[in-house]
Amino acid sequence: MTHTPTPPPPEFDGLRAVVTGGASGIGLATARHLAAHGARVAVLDRDPDALPADDMEILLPVRCDVTDDASVRAAVADVVDRLGGLDILVNNAGIGAQGTVADNADAEWARVLDVNVLGMVRTTRAALPYLRASRHAAVVNTCSVAATAGLPQRALYSASKGAVLSLTLAMAADHLREGIRVNCVNPGTADTPWIGRLLSRADDPEAERTALHARQPTGRLVSAAEVAAAIAYLASPAAASVTGTALAVDGGMQGLRLRAG
Ligand code: NAD
Repeated sequence: MTHTPTPPPPEFDGLRAVVTGGASGIGLATARHLAAHGARVAVLDRDPDALPADDMEILLPVRCDVTDDASVRAAVADVVDRLGGLDILVNNAGIGAQGTVADNADAEWARVLDVNVLGMVRTTRAALPYLRASRHAAVVNTCSVAATAGLPQRALYSASKGAVLSLTLAMAADHLREGIRVNCVNPGTADTPWIGRLLSRADDPEAERTALHARQPTGRLVSAAEVAAAIAYLASPAAASVTGTALAVDGGMQGLRLRAG
């Protein structure tokens, strides 16, 4: 009699995840990755209708604006109701800003920090009671190389991501004893609709795209799927001993710069 070995269950089998900003770019790639590996995944986005039709079959879209505390609480409660709990929170929703401190008025600072920093605070606060009840609780925040790289013309965006990095470390310390791991990824320039929008505003988008690629140590942009794989690792049971860390997925931008310096 031949013995056919039973394949191991998928990595995220039985786990339930929320990905904010999951209707596009890095968030969508992350939601797809987690679902493809066995998780049930809700996508919280201010524009859930942007989710491609095929993804509607496997992901649960929920309208949610992370700048609105009531919207966040209702969305998280709705997801927990439908999925029966929550194990993984990917705080990914974010917006960009260009310019020096001289360029952005107070209202613009407030608007960007409200999404990029307070948005993560709101979703985490709403999710914490459910994460505490999980036997495999993980939070992954989408940060950026901008948090530590000293990028020109990105004062506000960099400050917002610097706050995300500090928040990640503080949250990891605060919730360690509750069994909740907290980490972040620091993507370099990633090929998402966000970058597409930036390029479309350039005088010569193709020349700008070539220049953008040339600025990366690897000679190309990071893909959304590559960032998603890093987020998935940090969220996975394989990373059970990993908390309070920032994983750079930046084509060598940060590490090579530090060694060169
Ligand atoms: P994207 O614009 O393709 O996707 C962002 C998603 O977030 C969109 O679906 C949008 O609707 C959603 N969103 C925005 N504001 C929201 C709000 N208030 N409430 C709910 N949803 C909201 O962008 P992306 O490139 O995939 O970026 C995702 C994350 O990655 C962001 O946090 C960004 O700062 C970070 N990041 C991106 C890059 C890059 O080069 N693309 C590099 C480093 C870090």
